[in-house]
Amino acid sequence: MTGNPSLLIDLQKITENTRVIVQKCALHNINVVAVTKSVCGDPGVGRAMLEGGAVALADARIKNIKRLRREGVRENLMLLRSPMISEIEDVVKYSSMSLNSEPEVLSRLSECASEHGIRHKVIIMIDVGEIREGILPADIFKVGEQIKNLKGIRIIGAGTNLACYSGVRPTNENMNLLLQTALELEGILGYRLKVISGGNSSSLEVIGSGAIPNGINQLRIGESILLGRYISNGEPIPGAHQDAVTLTAELIEMKEKPSLPVGETGKNVFGESVTAKELQIHYRGIAALGRQDVPPDSVFPASQGKKVHIDVIGATSDHMVLDFGEDARTYGVGSEIRFNLDYPGLLASMTSPYVNKVYV
Ligand SMILES: *Cc1c(COP(=O)(O)O)cnc(C)c1O
Repeated sequence: MTGNPSLLIDLQKITENTRVIVQKCALHNINVVAVTKSVCGDPGVGRAMLEGGAVALADARIKNIKRLRREGVRENLMLLRSPMISEIEDVVKYSSMSLNSEPEVLSRLSECASEHGIRHKVIIMIDVGEIREGILPADIFKVGEQIKNLKGIRIIGAGTNLACYSGVRPTNENMNLLLQTALELEGILGYRLKVISGGNSSSLEVIGSGAIPNGINQLRIGESILLGRYISNGEPIPGAHQDAVTLTAELIEMKEKPSLPVGETGKNVFGESVTAKELQIHYRGIAALGRQDVPPDSVFPASQGKKVHIDVIGATSDHMVLDFGEDARTYGVGSEIRFNLDYPGLLASMTSPYVNKVYV
């Protein structure tokens, strides 16, 4: 489908971004599993990531994993979110491995895999401080004993996730706690774990700084591949593209207007009291884009060489108000505005049914 608004997805740039990150990780003996959850398991994007050297794809939702399989992706697919009991059968059928932290779920996975005559691979998640998913290191003996005899699963590794929910940074201490806990799990299981999965995009910026000790051999990377940036500081990754995915919207109004509303004001439809910045009379444009597509503070207008600085002032459900300053130059009704995105912007526009997805 074409038409505005649209997300332009540059598959070549996604491949190149993957390659840059894969090469950086390879220097430290780390494999990259590329994460497709922010693009709804888009098979084109997934293939571009594999082309760039990712060893497997991962997604948080089984629905996206099924989509990748349906579109013919045969490579290893990892389910990132602990399976719901109600989706165990699909997990066993469509994913190659899953991240897990609940003995009850592992026991169901084992049963179901046995019924299908296969062994489902699992990575045991350890919570080293982020307090989202994972077994606390203190509980590893108890849980290890509970799961070590499950015949339908093969425990191939241990992993952790950081900097998503609580924002805990990867450090030498918490990474060593993961390694130590993995060692204890190996002791209980009586065999070596092949995979130590140390985290997500947030780990990239500390590779080489000593925060990622030897032994961590896998990272699960989504955001940094798609945006070409480090996560905590938003800095561009050298050699990577920051515009692999951009959003285009079209202007439906352009007028010289005052910046302050006229009349008595109260709360707007979103329950906010808006305090407008006082500007000179300025060119004010409206793009056919709104909160049903993307949050207004997650889009960043690109100047496209027209030497006009465009600011996002705000948005309602379907209208985005933009400031073009004193001289809008060639911008007018019908002009297309290109936006760069941050992670929430990528997630929202990718999942909005109103935004067309265009591959270049
Ligand atoms: C989302 C997620 C990732 C990938 O995170 P990015 O910030 O996109 O790199 C990795 N692991 C788990 C468990 C996740 O939920």
